[in-house]
Amino acid sequence: MTGSLAIVGLGPGASDLQAPRATAALDAATDLVGYETYMARVPQNPGQTRHVTDNREELLRARHALTLAAEGRRVAVVSSGDAGVFAMASAVFEAVEHGNAAWRTLEIEVIPGISAMFAAAARIGAPLGHDFCAISLSDNLKPWDTVLARLRAVAEAGFVIALYNPQSRARPWQLTAAFDLLRTILPPATPVAMATAVSRPDERIEIFTIADADPSRADMRTLVLIGSAATRTIERPGGAWLYSPRGSAA
Ligand code: SAH
Repeated sequence: MTGSLAIVGLGPGASDLQAPRATAALDAATDLVGYETYMARVPQNPGQTRHVTDNREELLRARHALTLAAEGRRVAVVSSGDAGVFAMASAVFEAVEHGNAAWRTLEIEVIPGISAMFAAAARIGAPLGHDFCAISLSDNLKPWDTVLARLRAVAEAGFVIALYNPQSRARPWQLTAAFDLLRTILPPATPVAMATAVSRPDERIEIFTIADADPSRADMRTLVLIGSAATRTIERPGGAWLYSPRGSAA
């Protein structure tokens, strides 16, 4: 049997936001590899072996998945959202680059998913309609000074910003520090959306301005979207819509 490896994006949570190709790859796998929270979203299949790992062990998990595939197993590695956005696909390719040369002959497929920024944007209108970027606020994998330098550069350049990993119990101050910096650059009325657990039963969407954005409303399941000076807010009963126009003067 020839082994293979699929790196599968599960989407933001709702099963009908997962691509049929992802579902097919999960069904066809002999082995599933992933962090327990994401694995819980894959239906149990008694014919499959589940390798549940800790979230911090990305490279180890990637090497384990490659080893299984090289032994002839049909392996699916699961990620939330898109498999290539702050997720497992990079860990797999990093392991391939530095690992066993035979891993380069494996059949490896990355199956895309709906990333949190797209799911969140769709819930609040069209805030990503013009130039935007995505930044992870986690300083586990890069220095905090790099985060601040990037935030400053993109805010000054007029990008809409999607912030992943805004804060957690282990990283309680990063979002506050990010807002403090952005308040010195962006107009006070710039809209900020905090979208938590998008497409799940406990979804929560809140709209602020950068002047009054409350970091305590975010946790590790929140995607924070920060508008640009061009992003518009349409007030309406039950929550505003945000959109970034197709053209902008600035
Ligand atoms: N690969 C994932 C991102 C993994 S990083 C993707 O493409 O979406 C984990 C971060 O993603 C979380 O801290 C949060 O910022 C965001 N996230 C993941 N799922 C989410 C959801 N359903 N709602 C809001 N944010 C989510």
